Amino acid sequence: MARSIYFFGAGQADGDAQQKDLLGGKGAGLAEMTRLGIPVPPGFTITTEVCNAYYAAGKALPAGVEGEIDAAIGRLESLLDARFGSADAPLLVSVRSGARASMPGMMDTILNLGMNDEIAAGLARRTGSERFALDAYRRFILTYSDIVLGVPRDRFEEALGLARRDAAARLGVDATRLNSAELERKVPDSLLDPGSLAALIQRQKEIVLGATGNPFPDDPRAQLGGAIRAVFDSWNNHRAQVYRKMHDIPHAWGTACNVQAMVFGNLGDDSGTGVAFTRDPSTGERRFYGEWLPNAQGEDVVAGVRTPHPLSRSGSGGGATSGGGDDADDASSLEARMPEAYAQLAAVQARLEQHFRDMQDLEFTIQRGELFLLQCRTGKRTGRAAVRIAVEMAREGLISQREAILRVDPGSIDQLLHPSIDEGAPKRLLARGLPASPGAATGQVVFSADEAERRAGQGKAVILVRSETSPEDIHGMKAARGVLTARGGMTSHAAVVARGMGKSCVAGCSAISVSQGQMAVTIYDDHGHATGSITVKAGDLITLDGGTGRVYLGAVPTVPAALSGEFEELMGWADAVRRLRVRSNADTPHDARTARNFGAEGIGLCRTEHMFFDEERIHAMREMILADGEAGRRRALAKLLPFQRGDFLGVFREMAGLPVTIRLLDPPLHEFLPQDEAQLEQLSKAVGVSAKELRRKSQELAEYNPMLGHRGCRLAITSPEIYEMQARAILEAACEVAAAGIEVEPEIMIPLSMTRRELAITRALVEGVAEQVFAEKGRRVDVRFGTMIELPRAAIVAGELAEEAEFFSFGTNDLTQTTLGISRDDAGRFLGAYVEAGIFAKDPFQSLDVPGVGALVELARDRGRAARPGLKLGICGEHGGDPSSIGFFERAGLDYVSCSPFRVPVARLAAAQAALTAESARGPRATD
Ligand code: PEP
Ligand code: MG
Repeated sequence: MARSIYFFGAGQADGDAQQKDLLGGKGAGLAEMTRLGIPVPPGFTITTEVCNAYYAAGKALPAGVEGEIDAAIGRLESLLDARFGSADAPLLVSVRSGARASMPGMMDTILNLGMNDEIAAGLARRTGSERFALDAYRRFILTYSDIVLGVPRDRFEEALGLARRDAAARLGVDATRLNSAELERKVPDSLLDPGSLAALIQRQKEIVLGATGNPFPDDPRAQLGGAIRAVFDSWNNHRAQVYRKMHDIPHAWGTACNVQAMVFGNLGDDSGTGVAFTRDPSTGERRFYGEWLPNAQGEDVVAGVRTPHPLSRSGSGGGATSGGGDDADDASSLEARMPEAYAQLAAVQARLEQHFRDMQDLEFTIQRGELFLLQCRTGKRTGRAAVRIAVEMAREGLISQREAILRVDPGSIDQLLHPSIDEGAPKRLLARGLPASPGAATGQVVFSADEAERRAGQGKAVILVRSETSPEDIHGMKAARGVLTARGGMTSHAAVVARGMGKSCVAGCSAISVSQGQMAVTIYDDHGHATGSITVKAGDLITLDGGTGRVYLGAVPTVPAALSGEFEELMGWADAVRRLRVRSNADTPHDARTARNFGAEGIGLCRTEHMFFDEERIHAMREMILADGEAGRRRALAKLLPFQRGDFLGVFREMAGLPVTIRLLDPPLHEFLPQDEAQLEQLSKAVGVSAKELRRKSQELAEYNPMLGHRGCRLAITSPEIYEMQARAILEAACEVAAAGIEVEPEIMIPLSMTRRELAITRALVEGVAEQVFAEKGRRVDVRFGTMIELPRAAIVAGELAEEAEFFSFGTNDLTQTTLGISRDDAGRFLGAYVEAGIFAKDPFQSLDVPGVGALVELARDRGRAARPGLKLGICGEHGGDPSSIGFFERAGLDYVSCSPFRVPVARLAAAQAALTAESARGPRATD
């Protein structure tokens, strides 16, 4: 291992922005800002390699690191003319985690470290504020005890309550009838006087002694060692692990640890702290945006205990929009309260955005009028904001169009495509909060993360309602459709995490109060006067509009997403660079239209079996299945023919001029038979066959392993008349559409083939029907014949199959199932453990198993194209909408991917990114 520690301070830094892997995002940002001459309190970063070595050695710091830490502390002391552990000129530090990818609130941070009784007294002398010094000290003991010593925060609640009551007595406030929340409102932290704080510190220390059997550590060096270890340990806490899994962050990255001289935002009314974004992280609008709290430390803003104020006056943009930027907001803005610090911050943010050429998320503290930056990183944003920022930055010339394409995570644009509240629908407004994360969500109210997870597990849509969320709630947020909080701002935990997840979130909704399993809502009129109240209980339905911050009682109808001009523009740029075509899996004219509206360039898979489940059709289908001989089957199929033809007519019209691949019947027939007794009785009456006979037939069709049974083209080998009817329906519809002057491109696809002979038989069947239909209609249409590749044998003998097939479409759902020998219907029960254990990086049914299934795709490609040059290759399994799998399909040189309609834009963007990535792997273009 090279060096363990990278120092930054006084305009110089050992590291820079390129070293995120080693220094984490925070460490790299601090180093870069220092180099740029931006005011940053000095400090040092202990690398992620040290973290990994710490774990490799069974949680022990590698030899030599402690010496390097001492030396770095020495450098800090001489730079600041202060001493760590001295009461005369105390140096206090913060110890913060910071991984390569941001994991907001998941790992630990300790502030005000390096304190004991004497140092606190020294700090009081030095700052002239005993209250401030004791407040910093009691906060430090609380956090350190919780994080390092394992004495949970809530053990100290009662002591804090007593301190508030002490202070209340001194202030002459009658606290006898106040509950703890009311007491906190009447006596906030800022009103705790030195006497009550000193008594609180004493009580806190007693609690620590009682809980651990040891006194609270007085030695700042021991405190520092403990905090660094705790930060490394927090990389592996439960919530960090859950977060990493959700965001595909490898466990092997480790976190860096930043030790930095403290600056204080709680030194009085000329101090403060806040967070800022160089553009609006929710909408992407170009405006300096953020929140701050006067006389506070950073954790106060993020914890959401006090609702922060906007940075800018409403006229100049920015800030929380609760109440729509009114006069009170303006007066409390940083711009109004500290114009000089605001102007300096505005200049710094503009410079940082230009320097990093991306939207930045900043943390700052103002200590007695002096501005310091504590963090700068690429800001998290909603999908909507990502698109707008990328497009506008390209228009501004800050980045190229190609960079803009690569900037937007294809998965995140999913959010843009989701419905919003139907403004015209009747609805009952309950309350308003901050529009923290866009999208409409309806669900049953739940008040705990565990309950959210439990009910969601039962298939219920739930909205998680909390006073505020903390990282412990992450599993509940994941399970919920939306999140509503009573407290906290746009940068509170709830807001940041929900935006990252693409979930609807309304935060800081002060009209609600949550306690004892219910939510009390104060109703206000348009003038802000309270007019009544409503109680909402667990299980009641509410609807959130994360785009406006409104909360409605009951379920409110929604309307489909309206895509922005920037979105269309980005998609246009993406379409211009991508090579892969994007089709959609669509079974109905309605889905076909949706897909086409999203930019689908054809249908890659029309699953005909879905067409048989309608009330009238299922009868004919069942009749066909139950018929004893071919003649009976043909009679029933004749009833189905007009329905099928009608379906295809609709689909062909919607997809005029584009190819439509229709797959002939695939599932085993017993899937169409009644699943329960009541339905069986009903069917028995309808078809005049006894229930007993029906049961016998159903048992006869039942299979041990239906996925590997009598399905796919195997059905046509035993009962060719089914495929004959379908081929006729397709071709009659095609002729009819063509006769109406609409261009039609049918492709008939055979599922689950494994031998050339199966294809030869089904092809002869289709061609026979085609000749008949063309003769009857007096016109011909071009129709292509092809097959799915869903079995390893099919991939292996692809050369032979290509002799019969004009195209292949990889059915990677079945191909994954049959290659891995893992049932796609049962995999859910144990695949999670496989991913957990690192056997698969991701669920192979979601993200293609490239070394296994991918190798078969390549084999089939090579053998197929060798036998039939120009053989068209597509993929229509679920992987067709998965961005990382799309990267593979691009590299593999397939012609198109096909995915569900709502994934089409995702696939278009992912295909463009894959093309750009492949291009840059081949070397720069002359024009770039
Ligand atoms: C597949 O197997 O990948 C496929 C698209 O077909 P289905 O999911 O209908 O089996
Ligand atoms: Mg299949």
